[in-house]
Amino acid sequence: MKSLFKFILNVVPRPILIRLSYIFKFFAPFLMKGNNVECTVCEHQFKKFLPYGYNDGQRDNVLCPYDLTLERHRLMWTYLKTKSNFFTDNLKVMHIAPEQCFYKTFRAQKNLDYTTGDLESPLADLHFDLHNIPLEDNIYDVVFCNHVMEHVKDDVQCMKELLRIMKPGGWGILQVPADYTRTTTYEDATITDPKEREKHFGQYDHVRLYGTNYPDVLRSAGFEVEEYDYHKELKEEDYKKYRFQEDELLYIVRKK
Ligand SMILES: [Zn+2]
Repeated sequence: MKSLFKFILNVVPRPILIRLSYIFKFFAPFLMKGNNVECTVCEHQFKKFLPYGYNDGQRDNVLCPYDLTLERHRLMWTYLKTKSNFFTDNLKVMHIAPEQCFYKTFRAQKNLDYTTGDLESPLADLHFDLHNIPLEDNIYDVVFCNHVMEHVKDDVQCMKELLRIMKPGGWGILQVPADYTRTTTYEDATITDPKEREKHFGQYDHVRLYGTNYPDVLRSAGFEVEEYDYHKELKEEDYKKYRFQEDELLYIVRKK
């Protein structure tokens, strides 16, 4: 059963797994019973999380068997719960390329006026190109746009557009995958072959790989940037239990 589970997890894309998550919700409590790890999103405890990742990049003990959240989802949720007004204030929210593990929960929140946007996903309310968002200035209190900037042609232009639709005083989260051993963004527009892109940027459809300079890229688009370092905010025993990615920092962007 365990090897079948592992096989399914590595062959079936995670968005589809999430749609089948009732299967995991049924089996997980029996298979993974224990209290070594805890998911901050569903608040369930397990002996261990499931492994996740393709080929050489597989990471052990990271995928919540109940709601299929990964390290970055648990980190963002922890910030939203403990440090933000996201669950308390009445907020107008734009969620670009919405994470499947979040969007139903966010949509059900009574305090949110919640809209999703994407270039083409049928799940999204609005469809548009981030380089030129067909919406007025100063509309949203909160904007989420995670794991998108590494795909777009002109990232700073897209960031400027997100800043433009945010209200003054608004905030957002625009996470990206980063190589924390790099200090600059690695970008080369001549690399267009999917196999080459995977080799150079980490995934077949990525067009750049950010480094520790990412907050400066956000600043260059006009955002104020704040860093949420969970190592400083939480007890070691807690973040070890939540299994966050060791070097991931969450950047909160704000509009003056
Ligand atoms: Zn969970």
